[in-house]
Amino acid sequence: MKIVALAGGVGGAKLAHGLAQTLPPQDLTVIVNTGDDFEHLGLTICPDLDTVCYTLAGLANSSTGWGRENETWNTITNIEKLGGPNWFRLGDQDFGTHIERTRRLKEGKSLSQITQEFCTAWGIQPTVLPMSDSPVRTIVCTDEGELAFQEYFVHRQCHPRVSGFRFEGAATAQPTHGARTALEAADAIIICPSNPWVSIDPILRVLKEINKPVVAVSPIIGGKTVKGPAAKMYAELGIEPSALAVAEHYQRLLAGFILDNKDKQLSDKFRGKILVTDTLMNSNADRARLARDVLHFIGSIQI
Ligand code: GDP
Repeated sequence: MKIVALAGGVGGAKLAHGLAQTLPPQDLTVIVNTGDDFEHLGLTICPDLDTVCYTLAGLANSSTGWGRENETWNTITNIEKLGGPNWFRLGDQDFGTHIERTRRLKEGKSLSQITQEFCTAWGIQPTVLPMSDSPVRTIVCTDEGELAFQEYFVHRQCHPRVSGFRFEGAATAQPTHGARTALEAADAIIICPSNPWVSIDPILRVLKEINKPVVAVSPIIGGKTVKGPAAKMYAELGIEPSALAVAEHYQRLLAGFILDNKDKQLSDKFRGKILVTDTLMNSNADRARLARDVLHFIGSIQI
């Protein structure tokens, strides 16, 4: 079964890793959000792409969910001492990724080509692709004005109250060639348990049309996010945060929806096909088990 997974950073990377443990590598393509990308310290930084790649390569920092395991922080400490910006923490190994990516972009290579080269270097077998090679930038509309995504997310630690989102460049950005080919070949699309507003919506905006069956895994368990601001965003937009709200968010696309056992009392409120299972991924084994459950569900609903 050929699968395309749509992923943001932390939640997306975990299920992508589960799928990578379960599917033959040629059957898995992960299309990753690049709306969080930004230019900082003269470098092009792609947080979600790096989180997915580090996770698939076994290099991710398991406690933070971002960055690399066994990091040192000499470069950012030195930048800080010189009076430079220190609000976006980057480890020394991570800096290497951004320096090398920026150098190759300046040579004229595309982000998807560079990602493929990095995946080869890191021994990642499934295909990982940015959603587009053209820049798309998520802008968060807040009570304190419009904020670039990382300004909102990291610098302001999600404090401003959200009133909406804009995805600059998304209307004209084309999906990468690899993404189009993978979508054509796919038997099903899995929306990973990523933030629907700022990780998945930008991808859907760029892909524009999806003609394949889609299933989504809820990133909201018991009305709360495991990590990050998705539930806060739902609440500030006047929607009660819940797995149901996530299913409604994707409704027009969905062939099936996966929610956590903790939310099973909501089961009779869903209109479509659902799977109720443990969706919290605390270990590699949890990731693989959820991936198997999701694949089995896709098989069972004969899409
Ligand atoms: P970000 O770009 O780094 O914020 O990453 P994502 O958008 O991919 O992931 C954030 C979302 O992942 C949050 O809404 C979390 O609730 C969700 N998430 C993180 N870990 C898990 C997990 O183990 N299970 C589920 N169901 N959701 C998770």
